[in-house]
Amino acid sequence: MIVMLLSCCVLVLLATDPGVTAPTFIPEERSTPSPEAQFDLKLATDYLHQYYDLQHDLLVRVKRSEPALISKVKEMQMFFGLNSTGELDSETLEVMQSPRCGVPDVEEYSHIQSTRWNKNVITYRIGRYTRDLRRSTVDSLIESAFGVWARASGLTFIRTQTRNADIMVEFVTYAHGDFYPFDGPRGTLAHAFGPGTGAGGDTHFDDDERWTAGRTGFNLLLVAAHEFGHALGLKHSRNPESLMYPTYRAIRPTNLLSSEDVTNIKALYSPFRGPRNWLLRPLLPRLMQEKCAQDLTFDAVTTVGDATFFFRDRYLWIKHNVQSDIKEGPITNFMPTIETRIDAAFWIPRRSTAYLIHESTFWTVKGSVVRGKPRSLSFFGFPAWVQDVDATVHIVKTGRTLFFMHDIYWSYNENRKVMDFGYPRTISEDFPGVNATINAAFYKGDFIYFFVGPQVYKFDYSHRVVVGIETANSWLGC
Ligand code: ZN
Ligand code: CA
Ligand code: ZN
Repeated sequence: MIVMLLSCCVLVLLATDPGVTAPTFIPEERSTPSPEAQFDLKLATDYLHQYYDLQHDLLVRVKRSEPALISKVKEMQMFFGLNSTGELDSETLEVMQSPRCGVPDVEEYSHIQSTRWNKNVITYRIGRYTRDLRRSTVDSLIESAFGVWARASGLTFIRTQTRNADIMVEFVTYAHGDFYPFDGPRGTLAHAFGPGTGAGGDTHFDDDERWTAGRTGFNLLLVAAHEFGHALGLKHSRNPESLMYPTYRAIRPTNLLSSEDVTNIKALYSPFRGPRNWLLRPLLPRLMQEKCAQDLTFDAVTTVGDATFFFRDRYLWIKHNVQSDIKEGPITNFMPTIETRIDAAFWIPRRSTAYLIHESTFWTVKGSVVRGKPRSLSFFGFPAWVQDVDATVHIVKTGRTLFFMHDIYWSYNENRKVMDFGYPRTISEDFPGVNATINAAFYKGDFIYFFVGPQVYKFDYSHRVVVGIETANSWLGC
């Protein structure tokens, strides 16, 4: 009774002073909850709103006894294997205060779409960096985090600098352009969108955290590997051994994935899907052995983002430019609609697009997805008698694509979309030292690499001179 009287007096005093704005004070229960209890309740409602789809009006104070709240507390307790009492006990509150992933634990409210990427080569780009770590450290931790899933799934991740990469990786703070603002230090560490176009796959890290490569702060490799699980279509796991468990734990075994994580990613991306690939399987061992054969030649070679693609018959090797990792398999494993060999290929970085030529037709491959049906080579304005080409290369510096055929070549202006005047010209005149039919060519760092039989001529494009000769498969680590 005394307590009640006192609070009445305080209210009266505040209300009679016009200089002070009276707080709206609605006693929610018979006795006023302690500041600690109010803090806990606020923490719980915010947490359950964010991760368990608790519907609540932010202006109305939720009561502890609210059935909707109790049922959500129970749901959360069940997820984390706690006693499912519906009470905000200390164990429950401790979990709610643990730093964690921003992706909800319940599906109905989840912004993870339970889908998968319908391709095996997935591109990513690191946009905004954190200042907590050196750029090169961030690069290698992100690469390692993708590597965790690459090893388990057979997927290939290629870093690109183009804006339309599948997975955009960024360090941001508070509101950052999606509907899921970050919250300053601790709390939410990062979140990721499930596979899809637009924001699909995009992965954001809260740059108010202290990101590290070690045990202090938050380990970027651990958090990134978890988030990329979402970016590939995985949901949260209730198993504390799993990488996809929602809260952050610093100590982990060397193998980041639990057997559950491995089973789930394999179920989503089984490496051999459909009968077509089964038929091709007998081809694999023979081609794999040939990789280091002395006389190995390629049909087409092109850079694609930060990787280089090597085509031979219906087989493809993908080599990362930075690391020595090589992915290989039938072309259909990577681009299911392309069932033929590739004669020539080129890549236009600013369009993030590869063009793959087979006889008199070509495919457009954007962001590693084959777009539409193959088109006719006549699109480039060749005379009718040109029904195939040996090799193509796009020169970034000049915006030209060169098409090589026997001993002549054409130059196509990609900006104006017309053939340059005065072509075809003789290859040996403009590329001294390159005197035989070119099988494949690609452009990198102002050099054109001409694949002629089992050899590669490194051609200095500015000085028009061959500066080195190596074997073709030295590019594949042979
Ligand atoms: Zn998560
Ligand atoms: Ca945070
Ligand atoms: Zn975000």
